[in-house]
Amino acid sequence: MTRFIFITGGVVSSLGKGLASASLASLLQARGYTVRLCKLDPYLNVDPGTMSPFQHGEVFVTDDGAETDLDFGHYERFTGVPAKATDNTTTGRIYTSVLQRERRGEYLGATIQVIPHITNEIQDFIREKEGSADFVLCEIGGTVGDIESLPFLEAIRQFGNDVGRDRAIFIHVTLLPYIPAAGELKTKPTQHSVKELMSYGIRPQILLCRADREITDAERCKIALFCNLDEKKVIPALDVSSIYEVPLTYHAEGLDVQVMESFGLEDNIDLDLSKWEKIAETIKAPEGDVTIAIVGKYTNLADSYKSLNEALIHGGIANKVKVNLKFIEAEIFESEDPEVYLSGVNGIIVPGGFGDRGVEGKILAAQYAREKKIPYFGICYGMQMAVIEAARNLCAIKGAASSEFKVCDVPVIGLMTEWVQGDEKQERGKDGDLGGTMRLGAYPAVLAKGSKVAEIYGTKNISERHRHRYEVNTNYIEQLEKGGLKFSGMSPDGMLPEIVEYEDHPWFIGVQFHPELKSKPFDPHPLFISFIAAAVENGRLV
Ligand code: GLN
Repeated sequence: MTRFIFITGGVVSSLGKGLASASLASLLQARGYTVRLCKLDPYLNVDPGTMSPFQHGEVFVTDDGAETDLDFGHYERFTGVPAKATDNTTTGRIYTSVLQRERRGEYLGATIQVIPHITNEIQDFIREKEGSADFVLCEIGGTVGDIESLPFLEAIRQFGNDVGRDRAIFIHVTLLPYIPAAGELKTKPTQHSVKELMSYGIRPQILLCRADREITDAERCKIALFCNLDEKKVIPALDVSSIYEVPLTYHAEGLDVQVMESFGLEDNIDLDLSKWEKIAETIKAPEGDVTIAIVGKYTNLADSYKSLNEALIHGGIANKVKVNLKFIEAEIFESEDPEVYLSGVNGIIVPGGFGDRGVEGKILAAQYAREKKIPYFGICYGMQMAVIEAARNLCAIKGAASSEFKVCDVPVIGLMTEWVQGDEKQERGKDGDLGGTMRLGAYPAVLAKGSKVAEIYGTKNISERHRHRYEVNTNYIEQLEKGGLKFSGMSPDGMLPEIVEYEDHPWFIGVQFHPELKSKPFDPHPLFISFIAAAVENGRLV
């Protein structure tokens, strides 16, 4: 029997509902249950694929090629359960599906309304998860009180009513702000938020109260009284120094026990959280540190590279070091000497990216890393930049560029219009929907015998997630290899270059995919373990 946990948020956005959901899921796993996490997003975009990472943070890609919200990254990193395209929906997708059905006449002439048609469509999304896990945790994006999330709240109310209290509970994540003049945490916004939720017919069984300091018993009592709850169901969720401590602190505050109790389930398990304890301890007491430069765009919003930042932390955990990140806006190198910014760093990453801005700076960063023998990790766009750099500076192909650039004389990186996935031929055109022209999701690659990547992965066949439109133009492979750049990973049909590396460099690897999406704190990605190890080595040499 599947049980459902709905997680809503109140008072303000950015409370870390995604992390809360992921952490609770990991505690349920530690109790021996299977879990599935899903999310309802109230915005009108069909998916976050076309949204600016500047506004929305990174786009997380699943194995089956869905472009999702970055919370799915948290879900996977905390539970190890690969997310699926069917785990996420948005208002845009719900409406699209209802309107398509209306056009096909499937509603038999009925007047189409938010209730029941939209709310039924939302419930179908939830109901479809039945039987897929012991617990389905469903996060509702947005903040209670927003107009946008109303149909979702109505849908989960109806759903909860339908399946009954022993199969569906509601957890509300709120904020207790500290007011310095009063010297106390304020409970009023939480009271109002719960009142608002109750006005929609939803009574939360558990409150997770975010606060930047200890919540006193008196404050907890007050919230319990005003919100109709047992005090034990008002759970403090205080700020912690590392997100990987969250499962431990939630457990210490009794969250999982209260969830069991709310479902009327027995609580006779001694939880083994040693996996999380080990991670938290390693993060707290590193044996050294390294500094990694991330030369990209959007670097003023760390969320745009969320999974990358986390994967680097994971690489740090594996090497028992703290990883300091130095974000550098690539455009700077177009007017200033990279040396000034890069001379002290132990490793350089050029991450994924789109568009023209800052590309020359990224190419210069790749050149600097190659010439100065600093570990270089090129991810997707960063790999393409390394290829262009090699074409220009090692193979004397003047004007080498990507057809994504405004000016491109020689398309060393270009648009491939066809490729094969499984037995199926796929196509993309320059004029297609922006959301539909990318190579998305997991694709296999074969690693060259004796290459550095083959050694790092310890296997010949890999599968990694992609999200890009352009590919290395295979017409230039021979020339580039003569120049010294080795193509050490290719798609199984040999058509699509996947990995490049230099043999005469301590660590220079470019990958067409996004390895950061699959890294976990308890299972760091081999490329990140190896890259951070190389950075540690670089630090020793300096
Ligand atoms: N802009 C490049 C492309 O579309 C790289 C994309 C990426 O880095 N994710 O191919």
